[in-house]
Amino acid sequence: MAAVNIEVGSDGVLVATMDLPGRAMNVVNDELMLGIAQAAQRLADPAVKGLVLTSAKADFCAGGDIDRMSKWTRPEEPFEAANAMKAVLRGLELQGKPVVAAINGHALGGGLEIALACHARFVVDDARLKLGQPEVKLGLLPGGGGTVRLPRLVGIQQALQIMGEGADISPQKALGMGLVSGLARDRDELMAMARAWIVANPKARQPWDQPKFRFPGGDSRAPAVAQLFSVAPSVASARSWGNYPALQHIMSSVFEGGLLDFDAASRVESRYFAACAMSQVSRNMIGTLWYQLNAIKKGASRPAGVPASKVRKLGILGAGMMGAGIAYVSAKVGIEVVLLDTAAELAERGKAYSQGLLDKAVKKGRSTADKRDALLARITPTTEYALLAGCDLVVEAVFEDRAVKAGVTRQAEAVLADTALFASNTSTLPITGLAQASARPRNFIGLHFFSPVDRMPLVEIIVGKDTSDETLARGFDYVLQIGKTPIVVNDSRGFYTSRVFATYVMEGVALLQEGVHPRSIEVAGLQAGMPMPPLALQDEVSLSLSLHVAEQTRKDLAAEGKPWLEHPGMQVVRKLCEIGRIGKKAGQGFYDWTDDGKLLWPGLANLYPVAARQPEQRELIDRLMFAQANEAARCFEEGVLRSVADADIGSIFGWGFAPFHGGALQFINAMGAPAFVARCRELAARFGPRFEPAAIVVGQAASGGRFADA
Ligand code: NAD
Repeated sequence: MAAVNIEVGSDGVLVATMDLPGRAMNVVNDELMLGIAQAAQRLADPAVKGLVLTSAKADFCAGGDIDRMSKWTRPEEPFEAANAMKAVLRGLELQGKPVVAAINGHALGGGLEIALACHARFVVDDARLKLGQPEVKLGLLPGGGGTVRLPRLVGIQQALQIMGEGADISPQKALGMGLVSGLARDRDELMAMARAWIVANPKARQPWDQPKFRFPGGDSRAPAVAQLFSVAPSVASARSWGNYPALQHIMSSVFEGGLLDFDAASRVESRYFAACAMSQVSRNMIGTLWYQLNAIKKGASRPAGVPASKVRKLGILGAGMMGAGIAYVSAKVGIEVVLLDTAAELAERGKAYSQGLLDKAVKKGRSTADKRDALLARITPTTEYALLAGCDLVVEAVFEDRAVKAGVTRQAEAVLADTALFASNTSTLPITGLAQASARPRNFIGLHFFSPVDRMPLVEIIVGKDTSDETLARGFDYVLQIGKTPIVVNDSRGFYTSRVFATYVMEGVALLQEGVHPRSIEVAGLQAGMPMPPLALQDEVSLSLSLHVAEQTRKDLAAEGKPWLEHPGMQVVRKLCEIGRIGKKAGQGFYDWTDDGKLLWPGLANLYPVAARQPEQRELIDRLMFAQANEAARCFEEGVLRSVADADIGSIFGWGFAPFHGGALQFINAMGAPAFVARCRELAARFGPRFEPAAIVVGQAASGGRFADA
């Protein structure tokens, strides 16, 4: 079977249909490019008027072949691969007859680059269809001519935005920005439009191959563009702190390409592509955000052998911040939701949260009034437990209090079928303990959502001592059903995400006590690649909540006869709580919070005078990052984590662990266990035993091992 099937119609138009054998999607590899090259050769036939390039798969072409990229070890390999792709595409656009892309599904990355090498592009007007250059999200840049053709088609500024953000572009938007020539209602119209264009444009040439070509908006020499390039790199650095070399390489490739002719610009692009492909950052991101994420979505952490399940009716106990969010994301995918609270107004208020989100979406044109009303009709606010009858799953999101949770568990179970699952959204209370209130602990599980639920992509599934495999599998299926990414962890204090996240925040807070300037602490957090700096995060979480959890932990450990080593940051938290600075909810914590924003509280300098000698920024960053990675390694060692993929994805999706490192365990893999252990020991000698390297990494350093899933 050929990768590209070729057919000539009676109108003399050649239709080349991409259909890579044995693959669900078309991806850019040698086989596909050879097929396109062969199709282009057929244009030499005088009877052939032009070529329509389309696809037999659901997508047009999904992008580069990541498996192939992952095997590259020398920079010559990506350089040559990029040049080979470019040669085929350049041949296609220069052979003198019109070539049209009929885009029937997603055209992403290399897929869009193929379409850009066609003289015109038509696309099916389906809002779910995605166009775009998402390479930057895997630490790469478009190496198939994207940084050369896009600026020449839509202008340098727009091209930088498309490639720098890597966002999906809908067909409508693509039409607006001049990326495509027209929209079709369906596939038939798509093919008809493509054919008609060929007939109407027998002498098609790309704009950049016309003698009087000018970049829309000017090339890199144009004053407005030169001005853009005088600020764009610093704007990008301000956002990325220089942690994403692909961003710099995209800008350099576009800038230099904007001074050069097409072929020279193409060679420059291949060099920058090779630099990206060989970077540790792209290896980290591909390993985690591609391979590990795909493995998770395919069910690597789901017990095999349990039939796939779907939740049809969901009960939610507690219509507060979390319950309201869980109701929204569930109703959104068609699940019938019963939202229960202690008073009718509270339950109604929980439903009103969905109304608010949907009204906004309708206003912005992202949804319709019909869809909003249908979704809202699926949420029934109530105070009556009887309405929970027939639920496949109940998620409990009441106050973080064992007794309250036990009470609602019993009341709900009284009306549920024996087969129904019961999940707690607790953030701190061990699941095995909560399950003691249940008459069927095998059906009891933790589903730890993150706030705000509608935006956070992760759900941490917690397996209690008695949780059955079937319960886990069904919980897993529900998380996928609502479009979130599940990680699976074993029960333990703080589970995985809260436990490791706390080490980041606490390390930042502890630095204050050592006389480090609060602004340096905050900047270190951002430079490290975290989405929010530690002191601001502690204010968001609230200092009183952290103190409460610490006190609870101390008591629990004392009851279990286990030692308790308080983090030095806790003294700072306690001190601020004593003077009422408990965080954002009180308008004051490490910051003064006002409607206009936040400002570091000037009084901090009196409580924690800034030392005359300040540590280097690198040291602060290391402390913030090694603290997290080391704690994640301990979670793995203790069996809290069940897989490396869950650890890495959980860290990035759960609390925003700097994505360019590829996750909390990949952080260790990338530098190598010996280097990690050595640096941990230096930090431990100076700052305390919390930095003693996890035994599992010490073992890896000795044996040459690394974190890897089987
Ligand atoms: P919240 O205070 O906003 O909401 C709790 C709701 O539960 C309130 O509406 C309350 O009226 C209701 N409630 C209390 N007792 C009840 C009872 N006996 N029967 C029915 N309803 C009752 O709290 P939240 O932030 O939504 O947190 C809920 C749970 O989710 C807690 O266990 C919390 O630890 C956990 N959690 C919170 C977050 C977060 O960021 N807020 C994140 C993950 C998990």
